[in-house]
Amino acid sequence: MIKTLKFGGTSVGSASNMRQVANIITSEGSTLTVLSAMSGTTDSLVRASDGAVRDSEVDFLRAKYTECIGELLTNKQPSIDKMEEILTVVSSDSTIQSAREAQGELLTTFIFTEHLKERGFKAELLYAPDFMFTDDQEVVVQSKLNTIKNVIEPGTYYVTQGFIATVADGTLGNLGRGGSDYSAALMGVAIGSSEVQIWTDIDGMHTGDPRFVRGTRPIRRMSFEEAAELAYFGAKILHPATVIPCKEAGVDVRLKNTMDPAADGTLISSSDESAMNFHAVAAKDNITVIRISSARMLMAYGFLRKVFEVFEKYKTPIDMITTSEVAVSLTVDKIEHLDKIIQELKEMASVEVEHCNSIVCVVGRIDYDHAGLAARVFKAVENIPIKMISYGASHRSMSLLINSEDKIATLQSLNNFLF
Ligand code: ASP
Ligand code: MG
Repeated sequence: MIKTLKFGGTSVGSASNMRQVANIITSEGSTLTVLSAMSGTTDSLVRASDGAVRDSEVDFLRAKYTECIGELLTNKQPSIDKMEEILTVVSSDSTIQSAREAQGELLTTFIFTEHLKERGFKAELLYAPDFMFTDDQEVVVQSKLNTIKNVIEPGTYYVTQGFIATVADGTLGNLGRGGSDYSAALMGVAIGSSEVQIWTDIDGMHTGDPRFVRGTRPIRRMSFEEAAELAYFGAKILHPATVIPCKEAGVDVRLKNTMDPAADGTLISSSDESAMNFHAVAAKDNITVIRISSARMLMAYGFLRKVFEVFEKYKTPIDMITTSEVAVSLTVDKIEHLDKIIQELKEMASVEVEHCNSIVCVVGRIDYDHAGLAARVFKAVENIPIKMISYGASHRSMSLLINSEDKIATLQSLNNFLF
């Protein structure tokens, strides 16, 4: 069965990178290739929601795509025409913002497909909103994609857009920033791929975030659970929802580096064969902690439910929780409705709020019956004030809440100490 390969914005960020992507996919017999928009262009489309800067964003997009088309293609006119059609949509006041943001993927996949054809490959461009549907709860891949599963011809390269989908009211929209990894996972599972590959500009998941930490190493293998924790807690390389459909369907996810295709990358699967106890550390910023305490909680039941209901009412996910007999602390990163949440909580308890925190998450095989593992983590952070500790919900991760200003020191120290 064919593989699904997804390439991120940097991987298709220039004509020479697009050539490289074409080299990679055409070394396979047939593929479903899912692309992000050229790097920087979705940011530009987001900024273009503001009518005051829209014209200059359109100029930026035209310059970027024209350069790419100029360098990549011999027969440029169809792509130039497509670009102008798309820039008209971007410029229009009547275009809804989520549809405007989707335009980068449409143009990037068009140009890339033209390139494959010019190189003599049989390529077919699929329009993702024909089979990707979303309301704000769930993304569904419709059976239409199944049809390609049945008609795949050897040597045909199918190209489609990540990120974009038909939204509940039937219009064009998207899955939210970074969503093309998730698109690829859903599509790969739908067509029965043996593997979903996510190609970026780094050789797989590292033990820490190389932007902040010196001396990180790529991780060869990890479990779905670990990858999900890491992606959620700030490893920028993978959208957190990506592993869910793959785990359910038993489809492996492989992270690969477009700039260095020979590098091993990271294989995410249901078996993790690493002998190490600690695999990686990630951090998530802009965390708000809410401390709720009430004497009424003492020996009472139902108190937590009342607390959680307030968060549910305001559609605010809770990340970390710790409890004592008379208090519960929890963290959120979505603070849109914070004022209302606090107001309601104050009717039942005393409440304290603190911003500018980070969650640091250590993942690995932190087995329940293994003495000394927590001690190693704590030893590494002995000089850092720790504001919350969470372990035991899973034996795959341990999370610490710290002041954001201590983040880099914490990550570095954990990296030095654990790996
Ligand atoms: N192009 C979209 C973004 O920049 C989707 C993606 O790259 O995953 O967020
Ligand atoms: Mg991404």
